Amino acid sequence: MSPAFEYRDGQLHAESIPLAEIAARFGTPCYVYSRAALEARYDAYVAAFAGHRARVCYAVKANGNLAVLGVLAARGAGFDIVSGGELARVLAAGGDPRRVVFSGACKLEDELRLALANDIACFNVESEPELCRLSALAVESGRQARVAIRVNPDVEAGGHRHISTGRREHKFGIALEDAAALIDRAASLPGVRLSGVACHIGSQMMALEPLAAALEQLAAFVRELQAGGMALEHVDAGGGLGIDHGGKTAPTPAEYAEMVIAALAPLGLEIVLEPGRSIAGPAGVLLTRVAYVKPGHGRKFALVDAAMNDLLRPALYEAWHDILPVGHGAAPDPEPIDVVGPVCETGDFLGRDRRLPARAGDLLAVADGGAYGFVMSSNYNARPRVCEVMVSGAEARLVREREALADLWRGERLFDEAAR
Ligand code: PLP
Repeated sequence: MSPAFEYRDGQLHAESIPLAEIAARFGTPCYVYSRAALEARYDAYVAAFAGHRARVCYAVKANGNLAVLGVLAARGAGFDIVSGGELARVLAAGGDPRRVVFSGACKLEDELRLALANDIACFNVESEPELCRLSALAVESGRQARVAIRVNPDVEAGGHRHISTGRREHKFGIALEDAAALIDRAASLPGVRLSGVACHIGSQMMALEPLAAALEQLAAFVRELQAGGMALEHVDAGGGLGIDHGGKTAPTPAEYAEMVIAALAPLGLEIVLEPGRSIAGPAGVLLTRVAYVKPGHGRKFALVDAAMNDLLRPALYEAWHDILPVGHGAAPDPEPIDVVGPVCETGDFLGRDRRLPARAGDLLAVADGGAYGFVMSSNYNARPRVCEVMVSGAEARLVREREALADLWRGERLFDEAAR
């Protein structure tokens, strides 16, 4: 969690505001983001690559709230998108489409059209059919698309298998041995122009070695292309740097940059980066209130008002999020506590076996909720999605309203009404 969230006088604050005050004003559950933390974490990347031609394209999938994107756009960030919807969000937030790279294994036709119409910086192409379709659509719209080929270096990223993307058996990218043929194909198509080569091997990586191994292969491939006379403009190292959690420390952007620069700077190309989690994750918390404390056998349950539909990561990946009492001081309960929500699934938990003081009415902050939090939320169990608040100094603003009950069936009709 970022230092923007710290205890002052026994109360957990977001920048200068007690989280208890935010809960009283906006209700719970509620995502709270720190503007200063977002800025500092983006700036850390920029500083780490200072003196090199590098572009930080924040991965919108981590947190696409307009206020988050707006803060980063104002800093000059580029954006890594995976859908037309993410592009629309970037545009709505004032982001520059000429700083957008488009990733993803299955870009749909209307998404490609939207990206072409906005003249984005680069399409990270992942298959020959995609390349051919993009070329045809570009010709149709009287444009030429800049493309990078996303290669799959067959490296195990070392994180959870659901967020590892760089092995041969994964749907992402082109096997290195097939990439040269795809590049030849690109040269024969009128609607595309090869600008670079890209890779992304996974997320929440706590060690640099797998990334270094992938970038070494990427660099060797680029050198081969350059030796063959190909003039590339950029090389894209993807995202994936992890964040501290559960007592484990992730490499810093500076350590990461040292490794990336050593691997890629000798190529003489612009370096593109696509960090998501390491910018947004620690810049947010999910604020939740204990509704009941229920005794169990050998453990207790803190039943809280947030659930897996609000923060899916623990249920989906068994991801660890620190859980902190908002009011400091009370001694932790002697029994381990499972922090669970109201959703009717045994897998609905935010944290297990925690040492916490938990009484009904207490507020808890689930740390590192700024990335892959709200964006993965759903209305499962007909639960309205929660609100999002951004704090800057002593000011807290609602940057997304809590859904109302009527939002749950917006766009739906009774069968008989649907005939009209
Ligand atoms: N780039 C691509 C292509 C991705 O698929 C992802 C995440 O899945 C990212 C960037 C961002 O990764 P992270 O949030 O781990 O930095």
